[in-house]
Amino acid sequence: MATALLIVDVQNDFTEGGALAVAGGDAVAEGITAYLAERAGDYDLIIASRDWHDADSDNGGHFAEEPDYVDSWPVHCVAGTEGAEYDPCWRPTPSPTTSAKDRASPPTRCSRGCRMPAAPSASCSRRTGC
Ligand SMILES: [Zn+2]
Repeated sequence: MATALLIVDVQNDFTEGGALAVAGGDAVAEGITAYLAERAGDYDLIIASRDWHDADSDNGGHFAEEPDYVDSWPVHCVAGTEGAEYDPCWRPTPSPTTSAKDRASPPTRCSRGCRMPAAPSASCSRRTGC
């Protein structure tokens, strides 16, 4: 039986310093990196999604000046911005497969044999000390 791992929206806007930051987000990203360094070979396919929005629209009501944090949100993960990039604490090499949500980037594949960083990146350490 084939196995797959889906990693969802580990992006700068959802971790410390981002537009919709979650406390501990960098630590989660670092944990994913550490997990995959040991266990990536357990999966036939590793897929990562990114939240990815247009800069010049409300994205179907997803963005709002007064968001309710249920159906509407402040501006986040705008295509081509730093906030839409993967958190620097999670930097697989090569990039994982991206989902259909990630329309602006061509998918690449990370499966068995991909090399994961052994330690958090320098940019992660500078930004958060994780
Ligand atoms: Zn969104």
